[in-house]
Amino acid sequence: MTAPSITPTALLSVVGTDARVPLVDGGETRYTNLDYAASAPALATVAEHVGEVLASYASVHRGAGYLSRVCTALYEDARAAVTSFVGARGDDVVVFTRHTTDAFGLLASATPGEAVLLDIEHHANLLPWQRRGDRVLAARPTLAATLDALEAELRRRPAALVTVTGASNVTGERTPLPTIADIAHRHGARLAVDGAQLAPHRPIDLAGTGVDYLAFSGHKLYAPYGAGVLVGRRDWLDAAEPYLAGGGAVTDVTVAATAWAPAPARHEAGTPNVVGVAALARACRELAALPAGALVDHEHHLRERLVDGLAALGITPLRLWPDSPGAVGLVAFTVDGVPAGKVAAYLSAEHGIGVRDGRFCAHPLLDRLGVPAAVRASFGVGSTVEDVDRLLSALGALSARGT
Ligand code: PLP
Repeated sequence: MTAPSITPTALLSVVGTDARVPLVDGGETRYTNLDYAASAPALATVAEHVGEVLASYASVHRGAGYLSRVCTALYEDARAAVTSFVGARGDDVVVFTRHTTDAFGLLASATPGEAVLLDIEHHANLLPWQRRGDRVLAARPTLAATLDALEAELRRRPAALVTVTGASNVTGERTPLPTIADIAHRHGARLAVDGAQLAPHRPIDLAGTGVDYLAFSGHKLYAPYGAGVLVGRRDWLDAAEPYLAGGGAVTDVTVAATAWAPAPARHEAGTPNVVGVAALARACRELAALPAGALVDHEHHLRERLVDGLAALGITPLRLWPDSPGAVGLVAFTVDGVPAGKVAAYLSAEHGIGVRDGRFCAHPLLDRLGVPAAVRASFGVGSTVEDVDRLLSALGALSARGT
């Protein structure tokens, strides 16, 4: 394997990198954003595009005016951006949602049969299925054993859908999508993937990997809050009850009955979030335009530096499977003798470093990992070596203090 190229500077420019924040000692410092996995800062080009969209803002879909038609074209063109970004099949449908959570709510309402999933999922891809009474399998100590257990479960009782995260929001570990798609398809199930943490970090190829459905969020993909995606096979989405009943989702209504439109309109009732969707589409195009391998190399380098630095401090990142196929740009850990909340508060108050702490909306996974709470540092295209080094130096100072 060739060594990754060293990229000490940001790969793409993001907003907010010059933000100053107050410190507990009365001073102030540059904000170090190591919380990309919660919500990534917008790309500078995306922020600029949001301004342009707002400047030509008009009604969408039903307006006859020129700017209405521009707005509608922008919204519909975003489907093409998403299709290409995730390598969707020509007949896949792109439904715009509010976020990943909303996308899984929609998919759960449209899935015509039982789903099988693992207990490592973010609540967004756990609770909609738990509410339906679907089957949640316990992850095993290795990925290989987990996949064997999944296959045995599908052999024992077939399911309509297997749904799995593409990358864990706690460990960063990726899942082998083509292998899981093979297992699911061999047993007559489809595969849905939670791409919330995968899409910002790795190229996705639905057609090539055999993934049937993918969900992700704009606010984790360098665009603003409020727009997400469910993309995948059309038939279930056309057959399902509309996710939300109302204007825009119909072809004809009488007082007695409604003729519902096919997907995507079927599941997009109400005035859509054109600004969020246009921003999401711009982010997809910007990431897709990066040179091949640049994103992976950038994050790999930062991750290695962080993991090595933590090891030097005696801190081991949380990990689920020794045989997982690598991890994306996030690392969760605990510090001996200091509760996670205190570590995060210290990093913010004394060093202006933003991380996340807690259970990351993945309570069963934290239970499985045997930790009550952890600290998570996460990064992306706007992150630099200096960001990582600031965190390491702050953690070094904390351990030197003897906690
Ligand atoms: N799935 C994963 C893996 C996540 O990390 C998150 C957010 O943290 C979600 C789903 C939910 O995303 P959203 O809050 O945008 O719906």
